[in-house]
Amino acid sequence: MIIKTDPESFQSYLRDASNFQGSCDAVYFPESANEIALFLKDAQQKSLPVTIAGSHTGVTGGSVPNGGVVLSLEKLNSVCKINCKDKTLTVSPGVILADIITYAQSYGLFYPPDPTEKNCFIGGNAATNASGARSYGYGSTRDYVNELEIILPDGELLCLKRGENFAVQNELHLTCQSGKKITLPLPQFEMPKVKNAAGYFIQENMDAVDLFIGQEGTLGVITSLTLQLLPKPEKMFSAVIFFNKENDAFEFAAGLKSLSTRHIETAIHLRALEFFDEHSLTFLSEKFPRIPLPAKGAVLIEQDIHVVSTESDLLDELSIYLQKHNANEEAIWFAFDESSFREMQEFRHSISYMVNEYVAEKNYRKLGTDTVVPDEHFHGYYQYCKAMVEHAGLLYVYYGHFGNSHLHLNILPLNEQQFETGKTIYRELCIKAVALGGTVSGEHGIGKFKRDYFRLQYSSATIKAMAKIKKILDPCLILNTGNIFFDEDFENI
Ligand SMILES: Cc1cc2nc3c(=O)[nH]c(=O)nc-3n(C[C@H](O)[C@H](O)[C@H](O)COP(=O)(O)OP(=O)(O)OC[C@H]3O[C@@H](n4cnc5c(N)ncnc54)[C@H](O)[C@@H]3O)c2cc1C
Repeated sequence: MIIKTDPESFQSYLRDASNFQGSCDAVYFPESANEIALFLKDAQQKSLPVTIAGSHTGVTGGSVPNGGVVLSLEKLNSVCKINCKDKTLTVSPGVILADIITYAQSYGLFYPPDPTEKNCFIGGNAATNASGARSYGYGSTRDYVNELEIILPDGELLCLKRGENFAVQNELHLTCQSGKKITLPLPQFEMPKVKNAAGYFIQENMDAVDLFIGQEGTLGVITSLTLQLLPKPEKMFSAVIFFNKENDAFEFAAGLKSLSTRHIETAIHLRALEFFDEHSLTFLSEKFPRIPLPAKGAVLIEQDIHVVSTESDLLDELSIYLQKHNANEEAIWFAFDESSFREMQEFRHSISYMVNEYVAEKNYRKLGTDTVVPDEHFHGYYQYCKAMVEHAGLLYVYYGHFGNSHLHLNILPLNEQQFETGKTIYRELCIKAVALGGTVSGEHGIGKFKRDYFRLQYSSATIKAMAKIKKILDPCLILNTGNIFFDEDFENI
């Protein structure tokens, strides 16, 4: 196994896309699951802290080491097996998401999860239960993981297949490949009824696979995944629609969203419904000068076209909504072919990417919310968040997954004082989201710097019960310690 010990050679392993910085003594590059098992067995004996690294596109410091060593999965990057009959694909954790999408397409198949950044690894996606724009129509990574192989912190191999192992009376019973048996007591609590990536997924009668999706590398190293694919849609349609009034943009998006809950005949079945506020559009205009400024809001939509004849029905119905909500019809961007579709995707990706670049350049940590609230509170929460940052005189951009009531408000501090004010406001926005029945994290997870906010969402008893699950699987607390939990969560358990 390649091991890098010269700090000059591993600087890029000490930070992620949030500009969160860490330190470590070495970076290890295993080339097989077996090497990982032997490595972890040894690390456990030495109580050596190990931080798992995917592609470092995470935005919560999850892959950033706090001492010890980094275990990079970049050499485990083989696509192992496609099964066209069952439409499944078995891959190693270091395969890049973009490659999975392209590979599936070459077989006429489609992998739906799209966490905006396609340079991430599939193992990182499963570890964070990544979602994104298409989660509106297709759900999150969890919905597409059929099987997992996991190396536990003691080096044991656990193979899990969806549908084979369910919790019974609030306990999960796991059997490792060696025959070792493990019982995990599951706490009883209610997860918020919104898209949620905060802490472990725990539900009555849950499937064991689901505990290991969204675990942020705290319970084991995912070394193989079997993914469910879908038939590739015949065609994809996308559009970006600009508005001269923010409220028109908001009402337009809300109107399209309500179609999915009203049982009426419609040609509109969106898989993505994304929103951009005026500040996002101004921010983006540097890279996309054709944005019709001073636009006050924009909505990006995507839809699969399974039968080409439905495209004209879709456009006819859409035009009614465009007129009703005063869209700027002079400046709608449509994508009917592959290359213009990619341009839309680039437009959506750019806002997140440019925010990350901004914070890296100013050398602050990213202050971007990941809160989600129930649909009925979405508009009120949007206004509340805006009022908070505007009252404090902070620059910001506000955009994201309207379809899931999940927008990211990114504060753009100009100096240290504004960063501190931004942090205080960020906390208030988390408190408000939880009070409304929402979550502090819809998709990015807790990582290292959202641990305080995680405490706003669940009681200390619930967090301790989650920590107990980790302690059973990782008694020496070597793996990704510092993600999700504080040291004190493990006291007296
Ligand atoms: C521009 C941009 C836009 C983004 N937009 C979205 C979005 O819309 N939706 C979204 O969900 N995310 C988004 N992200 C965040 C990020 O892309 C996802 O969190 C992604 O899933 C992380 O994958 P990674 O391989 O980079 O993981 P890393 O950042 O390397 O790691 C993330 C976490 O997973 C753990 N981990 C990684 N691999 C494994 C493994 N094999 N086994 C166990 N644990 C592991 C790490 O230790 C860490 O805790 C965005 C990021 C960027 C930069």
